[in-house]
Amino acid sequence: SSTQEELQQEVMDKINNHPCYSEGAHQHYARIHVAVAPACNIQCNYCNRKFDCSNESRPGVTSAKLSPEDAVKKVLYVGGDIQQLSVVGIAGPGDALANPKKTFDTFRMLHEKAPDQKLCLSTNGLRLPDYVDEMVKYNVDHVTVTINSVDPTGEIGAKIYPWVHWNHEKVFGAEGAKILLEQQLKGIKMLTERGILVKANSVLIPGVNDKELVNVAKKLKELNVFLHNIMPLLSKEEYGTYYGLNGQASATDQEVMAAQEACGMDMKLMSHCRQCRADAVGLIGEDRGEEFTPDVFQ
Ligand code: SF4
Ligand code: SF4
Repeated sequence: SSTQEELQQEVMDKINNHPCYSEGAHQHYARIHVAVAPACNIQCNYCNRKFDCSNESRPGVTSAKLSPEDAVKKVLYVGGDIQQLSVVGIAGPGDALANPKKTFDTFRMLHEKAPDQKLCLSTNGLRLPDYVDEMVKYNVDHVTVTINSVDPTGEIGAKIYPWVHWNHEKVFGAEGAKILLEQQLKGIKMLTERGILVKANSVLIPGVNDKELVNVAKKLKELNVFLHNIMPLLSKEEYGTYYGLNGQASATDQEVMAAQEACGMDMKLMSHCRQCRADAVGLIGEDRGEEFTPDVFQ
């Protein structure tokens, strides 16, 4: 139908103008992540809470936590300094949607005061269906969901997520993993139906979900996710600490490449996305986060 074609065209335009996804746009636009979201509502075995959420971040340094007011001040200040600033994201240090008040207060004020900035967030997806309307309201441009398994029994998920926080209690094991999966799939579908770009990240965990990622990729295509990014667990060698499920080593480059190939990933798109820290500032691939401390923008 023509509405579907229009939607497709709209999606292509968005991707082509996006600093994170287009090679051309890459050098001309900058982004900022504001670290307003400290809490999380699930436990990933690979999470090290001392660092930023690996949904969209690399560990090693903890982001300075900001209030929504300070986040807006920072965006306005940085926007004055870096003319190419065009994307503002919330990517932790916990989960954007486990901190809905802080996340949407920030987006509401930005929507008012910096209407030209594209807004994005990253999430584990547990609360995604609850906030799609809010995202539409503030014109959120794209959402990144970390999804590591689509196994309907929850058995694989249980090895990755010890628990999820649901209806005011912790739900453990396969039961928790099934809730997370249902919410992720439902939320992704709602977003793409509303024309919001959805990108997915999967963490390759050798011996746990390496065979499962092909199923994840297939499901994501059905749901019109435009980009699937497979990344390794970050290793001790790189970051000086174990950052793996039960301390295990990260996948090798070859293992990551094999998984990416098996999943039919679009390497051209993916190669532009870096895992930016929760407080990254600047052109993609550049991090000027250290420059913009609170005493500078307040
Ligand atoms: Fe940690 Fe992110 Fe997982 Fe939450 S979603 S437990 S912050 S890795
Ligand atoms: Fe863009 Fe990827 Fe960085 Fe997010 S993590 S700002 S999507 S390059």
